[in-house]
Amino acid sequence: MQNTLVDVLRLSRQDNPAAPLAHLPDGTTVSYGAFFAGAEQIAAALVAAGLGPGDRVAAQVHKSLSALQLYVGTVMAGGVFLPLNTGYTATELAYFIADASPRVVVCDPADQDAVAALATARVLTLDATGQGTLTKAAQGHPAGFTPVARGADDLAAILYTSGTTGKPKGAMLSHRNLASNAQTLADYWQFTADDVLIHALPIFHTHGLFVATNITLVSGGAMIFQPGFNTDDILAALPRATALMGVPTFYTRLLQCEGLAKAAARMRLFISGSAPLLAETHVAWEQHTGHRILERYGMTETNMNTSNPYDGERRAGTVGVPLPGVDLRLTDGKGKRVEDGQPGIVEVRGPNVFKGYWNLPEKTAEELLPDGFFVTGDIGTLDADGYLRIVGRAKDMVITGGYNVYPKEVELLIDAHPGVVESAVIGVPHPDFGEAVVGVVVLQSPDATTQDSILGDIGPQLARYKQPKRLFFVEALPRNAMGKVQKNLLRDRYAQTFTDAP
Ligand code: AMP
Repeated sequence: MQNTLVDVLRLSRQDNPAAPLAHLPDGTTVSYGAFFAGAEQIAAALVAAGLGPGDRVAAQVHKSLSALQLYVGTVMAGGVFLPLNTGYTATELAYFIADASPRVVVCDPADQDAVAALATARVLTLDATGQGTLTKAAQGHPAGFTPVARGADDLAAILYTSGTTGKPKGAMLSHRNLASNAQTLADYWQFTADDVLIHALPIFHTHGLFVATNITLVSGGAMIFQPGFNTDDILAALPRATALMGVPTFYTRLLQCEGLAKAAARMRLFISGSAPLLAETHVAWEQHTGHRILERYGMTETNMNTSNPYDGERRAGTVGVPLPGVDLRLTDGKGKRVEDGQPGIVEVRGPNVFKGYWNLPEKTAEELLPDGFFVTGDIGTLDADGYLRIVGRAKDMVITGGYNVYPKEVELLIDAHPGVVESAVIGVPHPDFGEAVVGVVVLQSPDATTQDSILGDIGPQLARYKQPKRLFFVEALPRNAMGKVQKNLLRDRYAQTFTDAP
């Protein structure tokens, strides 16, 4: 019997433990052998702390290589890794701990007492430099821990969804979910042991934890491991790297930097995901660097579903085609396929799709259909040759006077107006129409562009019901840690535009 995910992650470098895995900010390099030896010691320490197969290890820790060893060590010990956003407050933490009842919680030393008050769990610490009671406990054990046997359908991780509506839900991910997606992506994007990936993403989210880390381990490549996103650090790393994975903000910020083209000259691959990459960013990146960004689409519940091709056309404004093994359909939300070219709710099926929401069987049954398809809640359209375009979340669709308005269609027109940096289109309550379309717009220079000039420009291109009834100008759109625009905050902010509700 094996431990599926661990077997897959350590396979590539089993014969060459001296191969480099991580180049750290302090100039040192950690080898595959040292990384796994440390993870084994952590696994032994977790078992000694009482962790049994299937028990959760919740971790609210800074980004460090030790934190990645904690992830791998937890899975080796037969446990379920539960990473938590470092931005969560004590109140939020209380919810996750009550919901997931972890056996072990790992936190920053500064939070130890507060966390101990919340949990009956064993509390261990890990600071930003990778030191703490966890590390001390691990050092008391020899390397060489034999991974606890787990099956492909056993859980390896629970990740709480970002929860822009309602309470966050814990997505249960199995060994098969994570292992299969890592192998598929490494293969599809042609990662090899020669790759050096710039890792500047947070590791409490599917993108940095699974896509970036698992692919590196599966392919036997190395990472330039950075504590966070900083354009200077990325520019400095580019000449030594072959690949970058980022959210769209990485690319828009890097485009403003001197020396980008030269630094990027020898790169093999730029990948974007987790939020929509504007087609204009895709075009500008190619003009500056000669590289076409490869955009992919996925989510906490499903890992990655679609990707633009490595060798074929990387089409701006699309998220590519279904990955090998993934079935995808667009429906009316009730299982009926929409007509060709029409927008529909994206549903996906495959070995990547999660096992359901922790403790929420009814919610799981609503979104995970009997035929195995997961209702993503995203709305998309398919080009004639199968490229998917994400036009928004179903929950963000505006219904005004009984008509559906897909925000993306209006946003693209507003964004094309001279002087507009970006926009978010939302629906707010309206006494006559149910909802009214409203645009929230960021301008290059507030004096030069007016509501009338934008509305006058887009008016002739849009049916009347799709035209925004108001535009609000703001300095920046609210975004979460992964760069996603938080439309729920905008809806709250502008809820009373057309009503007198208290
Ligand atoms: P999360 O579970 O936090 O990773 O969020 C997943 C959601 O991010 C998806 O359901 C999409 O709404 C959005 N998303 C991810 N990748 C893309 C992309 N390439 N383009 C547009 N939206 C994306």
